[in-house]
Amino acid sequence: MPRFFIEPSALRAVGGRTQVTIAGEDARHLARVLRAQPGDRITATDGRGNLYEVVLTIVTPETVRGEVLAAGPDRAEPPLKITLFQSILKGEKMDWVLQKGTEVGITAFVPFLSARTIARPAPNQYAKKQERWQSIVTAAAKQSGRGLIPPVHPVTPWPAVPPMLTDQFTLVAWEGETTRSLRQALSQREQLSAVQLVIGPEGGFASEEVSALVRQGALSVSLGPRILRAETAGPLAAGLLLYHYDALEPAPSTFASNGR
Ligand code: SAH
Repeated sequence: MPRFFIEPSALRAVGGRTQVTIAGEDARHLARVLRAQPGDRITATDGRGNLYEVVLTIVTPETVRGEVLAAGPDRAEPPLKITLFQSILKGEKMDWVLQKGTEVGITAFVPFLSARTIARPAPNQYAKKQERWQSIVTAAAKQSGRGLIPPVHPVTPWPAVPPMLTDQFTLVAWEGETTRSLRQALSQREQLSAVQLVIGPEGGFASEEVSALVRQGALSVSLGPRILRAETAGPLAAGLLLYHYDALEPAPSTFASNGR
């Protein structure tokens, strides 16, 4: 069973027990696709670090009800929060980055347009793109057992990108960086709880773009002597960051009965 995300408002105390109500797409999915039955157990997370083991009591395509058997901490989220700023990629490549990035453990995505971005949606398509990308991330978050649904931010035109960077540690993966490796950059930070990672489009970054990011405090890093496809760089760098900061350790299962 995949994980289900519930709003804290889906929980209600009823006579000493806690009842859960699942409606909408998830109810339909449970009833129609997964053919859940009363008595089945599911795992639900509230996206805020709490995990619930739930036994289903009523299953219809409109509403699924259940009762909380056990509650505990949701250990799925990595202690290192990675925000991936990804220059928009053509077609399925962007979908791929969002899906794989979510599985690996990226916390938020910012799709942006830079000078050499090939895939340039018309401004009136931005909202639709964002919605589609969000649904890809949502599905990947459920499938991979994330503890939250990473937000996909609106399409951001380049001039807005450097000023958007917060004072978090920021890395820009630049194919033109000839000295600083990722490892060297990370050796400057023994511990890290949040990082912004900026990845260019298929055509790479214009050097002025890298300079603008560096002026905002970013460090440019090489990911090695080979040129990676744009869709490879983000998920790879995210995995390396999580590994470096010891965020890929297995979590003890919160509930004995279902392994999660
Ligand atoms: N067309 C460019 C390559 C672009 S690769 C060229 O031939 O030079 C797309 C993006 O992936 C880059 O902008 C960068 O962010 C990242 N990337 C790919 N390979 C990289 C490497 N070896 N080091 C750092 N970043 C890399």
